[in-house]
Amino acid sequence: MNANIQTTKQDLVGLPLVHLQALMERLGEKPFRARQIFEWMHKKGAVDFESMSNLSAELRKSLAENFELGILKVHRKQVSQRDGTTKFLLACRDSELVEAVFLPHEGRNTACISTQVGCAMGCRFCATGDSGFARNLSPAEIVGQISAIERECGQPVHNLVYMGMGEPLHNWEAVKEALEVLLDPAGRQWGPRHITLSTCGVVPGIDQLTASGLKVRLAISLHSAVDEVRSSIMPINRRYPLKELMRAARDYQKATGLQLTFEVALFGGVNDSDLDAVKVARLVRGVECKVNLIPYNPVSEQPFKVPEFSRVASFQNVLRHAGIITMIRTEKGGDIDAACGQLRRREAGEKAA
Ligand code: SAH
Ligand code: SF4
Repeated sequence: MNANIQTTKQDLVGLPLVHLQALMERLGEKPFRARQIFEWMHKKGAVDFESMSNLSAELRKSLAENFELGILKVHRKQVSQRDGTTKFLLACRDSELVEAVFLPHEGRNTACISTQVGCAMGCRFCATGDSGFARNLSPAEIVGQISAIERECGQPVHNLVYMGMGEPLHNWEAVKEALEVLLDPAGRQWGPRHITLSTCGVVPGIDQLTASGLKVRLAISLHSAVDEVRSSIMPINRRYPLKELMRAARDYQKATGLQLTFEVALFGGVNDSDLDAVKVARLVRGVECKVNLIPYNPVSEQPFKVPEFSRVASFQNVLRHAGIITMIRTEKGGDIDAACGQLRRREAGEKAA
């Protein structure tokens, strides 16, 4: 189908159940119809209204005339020959392109999805940050990425990570609605451990997440425990320095009882010394957490270097000796530009050329 077709129909896939119930009432339908439609979309994986067999033919027809189900279209798809990782560029109704990745793993499949087209946070090492910010994604465009992946790969998604394009807590209202859909027991029945939300440290957003009572795994992109270093690679740190970030992270941990994850991307000669590791250990001491080390994934025209593997291993050792669970995140789909923002950036480069 043509990705550029413009339509004003509302996509129901991002509507939390209460909103769907209100919509059904407005349409003069019984409220229980909302639950049936919700189950079709999020439990039974329906890709169109026609297949919702416990609805009357009349209602199915009216829904199809007035609403949509999953508006994202596949613009480009790359499958890794190494590990089956599949990277999608999905086209929104206005032709903006969104990255989403499918990571198959012995029946526990993970989807990595985006929350914005581009990103306004400007982290120096990130391909998405380099390309600037275009717009927020709607709840339907967020949830729709999972539907599109399942439809295209013919496999269910079991876990979700918000680690694609964009800063989820800079688009909190839409992310909140999408979480309400995904965590609803009437739908996917996902628990907190099925979803990981990664943030660069938007402190008011972390506080809103805590206040919402929604429970997901929270990953903080820490990268450095030294304010000056962190500010030099992540502008957000000038606004919300480490002390405030750690306060918000601790509050979320206490409110949810869930283990936090700290992501530490390592850049050769910038933040990868043993002393840097000692400082990370000191910063997170006493917090129920684990640390993921991510060796820098090179992005063209950036000044950063991939760290020596011996440095990464030594960094891990320091943290482990301090009693902190520390994993080195192995690169998936390295042959298909699977680092966030890279595929869209390449597409834009090709168009410009
Ligand atoms: N905006 C969110 C989530 C998306 S980025 C965030 O920043 O947390 C997902 C993770 O990839 C973050 O930890 C981010 O810092 C990291 N990342 C981005 N570009 C990278 C690169 N070139 N190499 C290694 N990690 C990178
Ligand atoms: Fe945005 Fe995250 Fe990239 Fe930073 S790392 S620019 S917050 S997507």
